[in-house]
Amino acid sequence: MLMRMVLPEDVKRIIETLENAGYEGYAVGGCVRDALLGRVPEDWDITTSAAPEKVKELFGHTIDTGLQHGTVTVMMNHVGYEVTTYRIDGEYEDARHPKEVIFTLNLLEDLKRRDFTINAMAYNETAGLVDAFGGIDDLENGIIRCVGNPQERFQEDALRMLRVIRFSAQLGFEIEKETQEAIKVLAPTIAKVSAERIAVELVKTLVSKHPENIRVAYELGLTKVFLPEFDVMMETPQNTKHHMYTVGEHTIVSMQNIPADKVLRLTMLLHDVSKPECRTTDENGDHFKGHQAKGVEKSKEILRRLKFDNATIDLVAQLIRFHDERPVIVPKALRRFYAKTGLAIVPQLLDVKIADTLAQSMYSREEKLVYVEDLRKAYEEILASSTCVQKSQMSVTGKDLIAMGMKPGKEMGQVLDQLFEAVLEEPEMNNKENLMALAHKLILPFI
Ligand code: ATP
Ligand code: MG
Repeated sequence: MLMRMVLPEDVKRIIETLENAGYEGYAVGGCVRDALLGRVPEDWDITTSAAPEKVKELFGHTIDTGLQHGTVTVMMNHVGYEVTTYRIDGEYEDARHPKEVIFTLNLLEDLKRRDFTINAMAYNETAGLVDAFGGIDDLENGIIRCVGNPQERFQEDALRMLRVIRFSAQLGFEIEKETQEAIKVLAPTIAKVSAERIAVELVKTLVSKHPENIRVAYELGLTKVFLPEFDVMMETPQNTKHHMYTVGEHTIVSMQNIPADKVLRLTMLLHDVSKPECRTTDENGDHFKGHQAKGVEKSKEILRRLKFDNATIDLVAQLIRFHDERPVIVPKALRRFYAKTGLAIVPQLLDVKIADTLAQSMYSREEKLVYVEDLRKAYEEILASSTCVQKSQMSVTGKDLIAMGMKPGKEMGQVLDQLFEAVLEEPEMNNKENLMALAHKLILPFI
């Protein structure tokens, strides 16, 4: 592996400024790892022997990002660089927050507190690469390994266990044996970590190149704590001709077959979450009646528990609600279908249907995929023709009814519903003349 790397000009300038003032400065952590892998780092972090006040003195434009942890953001050409003083994390009080941080003049002390060998390397042009824990070897061999004793490191900060999974998923790396063993022992302590932080690592895992690594989180006992529903899925068989995997494996394969987007991957993660509770078995095998509706409620509950925002929760829930619906591809049925789903969600719904199909058995696969493609074509036609399938597309609105003497309220809503119903039945109805004529008849009892 090439041990030299090209630092961005701004980073060089920050390091030189520190060095000229008699301090040390290094690019450190994720950016060094990514640069060595030939990837473009998202952001460059710098570690220095200078105390935070000195950093502030040395640079014109700084922001106090986390002074108590030694972090000052240095602004250069409108980009922020976090410059953090070498530090030792004191004792951890709750497997999450160090009670105190102690600044140090020794780079190695700072590298020692970092989580994994591949994240514990520093680089500048004077000293070259500083790799005290075999980070280069692990990077070359594709291994995630704790710096120091894994049990101790996870006891200090339980979140690191999920970071192991996340980095293994992002980089496609193996997890070193002792690191795995330590997670098995300490997995229950992930319960001490806040839902928000768990969700961040979960999403990074799901939208990575290897969402299937959630299986590793299951095998090591982590999902049991923050997503026990997934464990139940992993343990639920599907004896039907449509399937060849357990609910959990089907879920995993479906995630591998959908674009790496937060909403889409979360949808696949949870689309069959209620199958276990809905499973019944007879001479024909397993049935999962009603799992969509139940899945909507359960997935909302799970996403709320993990503190996702409402927009994400609602969209995922809608996609789950409709994931198994198969409208007949004739105009009227489709108009009714879009009236329920809305048009905006359809492209994502088509992705969900394809991913779901590709994670099923080969039974009728070709037909199922052709059906989704037909649905896509029909959707594109509807879009192109501007056929009215949503209330917002009607030629008559509440305003028109008010102009006709109706008062806003429940009745007006009902009249609009009836007008919309007429339009869904007969798209030609959607012009002002026709709808106003119908509206006149409908509102007579109310004015
Ligand atoms: P990315 O930003 O791509 O997600 P990263 O490696 O930069 O990856 P960050 O969370 O930004 O990850 O952390 C920056 C660096 O800080 C890490 O590379 C690691 O050296 C250190 N670090 C971050 N979180 C922890 C932690 N919980 N325990 C120990 N060291 C950590
Ligand atoms: Mg980072």
